[in-house]
Amino acid sequence: MSAYHELDDARVIYAFSKDAEPALTVASGDTVRIRTMDCFGNQVRTPEDELDEIDWDRINPATGPIFVEGAEVGGALRVRIEKIELDAQSASCTGEGEGVCGDLFKGWATSINRIEGDRLIWNETLSIPLAPMIGVIGVAPAGEPVNCGTPGAHGGNMDCTQIGEGAVLYFPVSTPGALFGCGDMHAVMGDGEISVSGAEVAGFATVELTAMPDLRLENPVIETSTHLGIIASEPTLDKAAEVAVHQMVRLVHDRTGADEAELVMLFSLVGDVRVCQMVDPEETVRFMVPRYVLDAYGFRLEP
Ligand code: CA
Ligand code: ZN
Repeated sequence: MSAYHELDDARVIYAFSKDAEPALTVASGDTVRIRTMDCFGNQVRTPEDELDEIDWDRINPATGPIFVEGAEVGGALRVRIEKIELDAQSASCTGEGEGVCGDLFKGWATSINRIEGDRLIWNETLSIPLAPMIGVIGVAPAGEPVNCGTPGAHGGNMDCTQIGEGAVLYFPVSTPGALFGCGDMHAVMGDGEISVSGAEVAGFATVELTAMPDLRLENPVIETSTHLGIIASEPTLDKAAEVAVHQMVRLVHDRTGADEAELVMLFSLVGDVRVCQMVDPEETVRFMVPRYVLDAYGFRLEP
């Protein structure tokens, strides 16, 4: 019998770390409804709240960590995103030196927006359909702690638009219990996150956490209703794409025995290199392959 837990945001981490004290311990297969702050630590509430006035030590909190029984070093943690619930107000920011267009600005700009039903109200004439997603999600990394603003092989600030309801993530586990955490939800965000923020919003993420001790991974894997992808974070988008594509070829080759040249030609026809974000200390790319293609080769992620 898997259990259901609630976790409030009284305990947050600002770095994913093997040394973090668990906020909650759950059995493999349990579900947790997690309260998450927005990436500003809920400090940006009005259009007058500018980023140079907030406490930067409270940026990018992730709620947790959660110790998952049965999660073992060298295995994986499966995270099924069951539900995302958003608060009624989002904040977006940009400013000097931030994001792709940081050269355009001297000061900071803030946009506070209402969320009504399934739309974000941008202004009197424009509303935007919501596409809720989790920006920061991951487990403790293998080595030194990694601050929650930086993505890596452990996950973290990947800002991947596909990490929404129904998505399933697999993370390589580097410490007993995995030490899972998440935060930084977005009501909507474009690939690239060019301003350095999405529609930043607090809310609740409901996730099912399952230990997969026999699954070996190098980087996070994502499954959606239509695709399977590898998410890689590296110093440049080019390098991240190279890593994600190589790991996908190897993953499918190892599990199906299919010829590498055949797979590369095939993936060139049906696989998509997509930018997750290009504004964080490491840049993140996903390489997505349709599931029908993998099914035709008898591919199964779980060994
Ligand atoms: Ca983020
Ligand atoms: Zn964010």
